[in-house]
Amino acid sequence: MIVTIDGPAGAGKSTTAKLVAARLGFRYLDTGAMYRAVTVLVLGRGADPTDAAAATAVAESLSLDLRPDGTVLANGRDVTTLIRHERVTSRVSEVSAHPGVRAAMTRIQRDLGRAGDLVCEGRDMGSVVFPDAPLKIWLDAPAEVRAERRRKELEAAGESLSQSELVARLVERDRKDSSRAAAPLVRVADQTVVDTAGLTVEQVVEKIMALASTTRTGGRA
Ligand code: C5P
Repeated sequence: MIVTIDGPAGAGKSTTAKLVAARLGFRYLDTGAMYRAVTVLVLGRGADPTDAAAATAVAESLSLDLRPDGTVLANGRDVTTLIRHERVTSRVSEVSAHPGVRAAMTRIQRDLGRAGDLVCEGRDMGSVVFPDAPLKIWLDAPAEVRAERRRKELEAAGESLSQSELVARLVERDRKDSSRAAAPLVRVADQTVVDTAGLTVEQVVEKIMALASTTRTGGRA
């Protein structure tokens, strides 16, 4: 079974998806990490993230190793920490907007999906990559709640930004991700909405586990 979890930046997708995958005994796929890895390589080459040809060339030749412990190797190099840096986060939407980059990432994602039993999270998992997945979640929360989570994550990584600056950056990233032509961030009708505001991580995970159990038994609770 494939479970897709999509939604705006900072909605808690990674934390939730990892826990749901562990409980179901499924593999976990962080597709944001893939677009971030491409961005690291594009920036590392001194290329402009808006340069479609350069970004597509990087994506098409990318050798990616996403380890179960969260380590991300891009062309053999450990980029686990680097992909979370703000200078990568602020440019990733430009790189992920190129259709050539998306085609290359979608191919890898579908290959991983072929082995079944996967929880994947991103922006277009339920809308484009796995439209026939039996359980599709849309995870959401108000921008202020999402920004506060990001602030704590950044703090843990030794970076700091004000709450208002973080809200502005999240809203801007969502705007870019939602307005691109190729596989935009968009909610589709058959996604189940889970609003995480006011819920603990455990409560969110339990909600999704209940949905997964109903889905597995073919709708019989
Ligand atoms: O989820 P995360 O914040 O790590 O995603 C980083 C960026 O990667 C997003 O802002 C978006 O531009 C891109 N992305 C995407 N499609 C996905 C996952 C991420 O375009 N499925």
